[in-house]
This record gives sequence, C-alpha cells and structure tokens, in this order.
Amino acid sequence: MPDLMLSVVAPCFNEQEVLPEFHRRLAAACAGLKGGYEIILVNDGSKDRTWDLMRDLAQRDPHLVLVDLSRNHGHQLALTAGLSLCRGRRILIIDADLQDPPELLEAMMQLMDRGVDVVYGQRRQRHGETPMKLMTAAAFYRLIERLTDTPIPRDTGDFRLISRRVLEVLLAMPERHRFMRGMVSWVGFRQEPLLYDRDRRYAGSTKYPLRRMIRLALDAVTAFSIKPLALASYIGFLTGVLGLLILGYSLVDWAVGGTIQGWTSTIVAVLVLGSVQLFVLGIMGEYLGRLYEQSKGRPLFIIRDVVRTVAPPDEPAPPPARESPPAADD
Ligand code: UDP
Ligand code: MG
Repeated sequence: MPDLMLSVVAPCFNEQEVLPEFHRRLAAACAGLKGGYEIILVNDGSKDRTWDLMRDLAQRDPHLVLVDLSRNHGHQLALTAGLSLCRGRRILIIDADLQDPPELLEAMMQLMDRGVDVVYGQRRQRHGETPMKLMTAAAFYRLIERLTDTPIPRDTGDFRLISRRVLEVLLAMPERHRFMRGMVSWVGFRQEPLLYDRDRRYAGSTKYPLRRMIRLALDAVTAFSIKPLALASYIGFLTGVLGLLILGYSLVDWAVGGTIQGWTSTIVAVLVLGSVQLFVLGIMGEYLGRLYEQSKGRPLFIIRDVVRTVAPPDEPAPPPARESPPAADD
C-alpha cells in the first residue's frame, strides 16, 4: 500500500540552469501537503552538471529521490522510469523547466478530492514558443484527433496529476514506444482539464528539436492508430474504380478502331493488376495492424468497480457450489 500522499516525477535532461529554481518552487508548492510527499528527479543521461546539482539538493531535502539513468533514454522513458518508483497515492508529472507551474498542484489536488482520476493541464496560452512550434503542435493535435479512436485532449503536455489506479494501469502497459499522454487518456476513468497559461522556459533551451518532435508524433500515431495501414486498401479501391472507367473507355475506343494495337490490353493489365496489388497490401495491412495491436500487450479492459448484490441476512445464503474452492481471503 502506498504510504505517501504524493509523488512528483520530473525527468531532467541537461537542466542545470533550472534545477535549483525548479526545486525551490516545487518544494514550496508541496510544503503544505498533508500525508507526506516525495520528489523523484530522473536524470536522463545529462551531459552537464544536472546530476551533481541533484546530489547537492538531496543533501538538503530528504523528500528527494534521485534516479540516474545509464544514458539518455528520451523524455517518455525517463518519465516511465520515475513512475515505476512512485510510492504516492497520487502522482504529479511535471517538466523540470518550469513551463508547468508547480503552484497549480493545490487546484489539481482539490479536483482530485472530488473523485477525478486524472487532472490534466490544458494550455490556454503558450508564452515564449516559436511560431514554428505553435504551428507544428497545432497540426499535430488535429492529426491525432482524426486518426485515433482514443480521445487525446488538445494542447496538453504530460503535466498532470494521476491517481494510483491510473498509474498501476500505465505500468501494466508494456509497450516500448510510449506516448504517455495518449496512454493516460486511453486508461479512462474520470479525466478533467485544468486550464492554465503555459509559461516560457525558465532557462536553458528546449530538448525537443524538430527531429524529436517528429519522432514523438510518429510514436503517437502508430501507438494509437492502425489507420495508416489501411491506406493501401483505400487507394486500391480508388485505382480500381478508375481502372474500370478507363477500361470502359479503352474498350469503346478499341471497338471503334481508334487505338493502336496492344494499347487496350496493356492499359487494362496495368490498372487491374495495380489495384489488385494495392488491395492485397491493404488486407495484409489489416492483419499486420491486428498483430501489432496484439503485440502491444495492453490490458484488455480496466474495471472501475465491481458491484455484487449481497443477500440480506434473513434470507438463507445459497448453498456454496460444490466445485468452488474454499474462500481464502474472507
Ligand atoms: N527531457 C528528458 N529527456 C530528453 C528530453 C527532455 O528527460 O531526452 C525532459 C526535459 O528535461 C524537460 C522535459 O523532458 O524536463 C520536457 O522537455 P522540454 O522542456 O525541452 O520540451 P518542450 O517543453 O520544449 O517541448
Ligand atoms: Mg519545456
């Protein structure tokens, strides 16, 4: 049973400029908390003094838990590493660069007191981001919305407070390419946004250059949609229809004698074979997609609650079935 009220998880990659200030503000936000808390800082293979600074901070603050990864594993895996060590009943996921204000913790906790399982920070405004970042981010969220069946809320990062039972499901999802905010949405239960203005980075520079953003977007699309695999069937269908039209046209042309020898058979063979090939590719895509879904090994379902109607005490209890084993945990 978790013995703390809250675990905070912050992955850090080359964050020496922000770490002391991040710790100061986060510790201040956690200070009033009843029930104890821990702050898990994950050093994701930093090349600067991040790890030394973490050690210094831990000397002064017993709430800190430090995790040093063997090399840079990337944000999502560093986060997963931190999550695997949480001892809290609630878990706050936050970036170390102070773009997500730690002061929102209180409001998030209050929402969770009312029975919400996931409180996710949703950006009302984003300060200090380049137009390029804003545009690509907007395009990305809309693309995801169209492609996936999981409702992944727009304009959210990984900044969120989750309950223990959500964490347990996340840790039971063994997939390797982890798009955490999508996975959290996939889990379900009650999820509610908390609107906030995203600050600019406190110091240092972004660790998500375009190359990494594209990789994250690819992870997101492939982890939550197999629609791209079905693309071949659609195109095959379209070329098939087109082929039929041209087939009709070329036959008519042939009948009136307006074609050179061999044109009709060539064009028909090309179109028919082309569409059949694409169609078969699409069928293979469907199987591949199912195989892929299976290989992700996610839980099949997540139960919120089980309600059993218990017989009132004056009614005789039904005789236990002969083959049922003795109840061990009553
Ligand atoms: N981060 C990480 N490993 C990486 C890249 C980033 O742990 O390989 C951390 C980083 O230190 C920060 C968070 O992930 O705490 C988000 O990164 P960043 O702020 O650079 O992304 P942006 O906000 O620009 O999208
Ligand atoms: Mg950031």
